[in-house]
Amino acid sequence: MKAMRNKRKGLLIVFSGPSGCGKTTVLKEYMRDRDDCTFSVSATTRAPRPGEVEGVNYFYVTRAKFERMIKKGQLLEHTIYNENYYGTPLKPVLAAMKKGKDVIFDIEVDGASQVKRQYPDAVLIFLKPPSLEELRRRLEGRGTETPEAIEKRLARAEIELETADKYDHVIVNDIVERAADELRSIIESAHEKQ
Ligand code: ADP
Ligand code: 5GP
Repeated sequence: MKAMRNKRKGLLIVFSGPSGCGKTTVLKEYMRDRDDCTFSVSATTRAPRPGEVEGVNYFYVTRAKFERMIKKGQLLEHTIYNENYYGTPLKPVLAAMKKGKDVIFDIEVDGASQVKRQYPDAVLIFLKPPSLEELRRRLEGRGTETPEAIEKRLARAEIELETADKYDHVIVNDIVERAADELRSIIESAHEKQ
């Protein structure tokens, strides 16, 4: 008789951290060659950065369209960050959950607590830069923001770093591969505990 195999249940994984600390880079490393997880593509009213792709990094929408999405209940959560709207489209999350896939959200702390309220089993992970000086170097090195936007992000980062203790796990992004390995073992052990 064939042994019954339990179907792996998908997890909701919230990945937060100050802008420029390396969330996109670490997630790219983690998600390489994996087909058991989906990245939740957010909607935003901010302009695309050079190299960003519609439907891959974000869905870039107008304020009017974003406000219609809120009214129609199409967002799982949303917030305003540096004068722009950001939010998680609900439908793709429900579709991925139905397929048993993990869903990874790159969202800030306000969105993280909205997800946790609706899905208490969500795993909340905070990515920290090694220091604020290194965060500045990464933001400047990325070269995608004006000096003014960099200052705003750095000021916000100091506040965000204080919220790290609300998260289930904190990872320091010193070396990309090491941080991605740590993320992998946190997710594996969360699956084992299910
Ligand atoms: P976020 O998605 O958190 O805004 P990014 O992934 O865009 O951040 O990373 C910001 C910049 O920092 C990029 O130029 C990226 O190449 C660089 N970076 C990311 N992680 C590291 C790391 N561990 N060491 C050095 N540079 C890094
Ligand atoms: P950025 O403009 O650097 O891509 O993102 C700015 C901040 O918005 C980051 O902290 C990122 O995690 C957060 N963010 C991106 N998408 C969403 C979303 O859908 N909801 C929320 N609450 N935050 C988001």
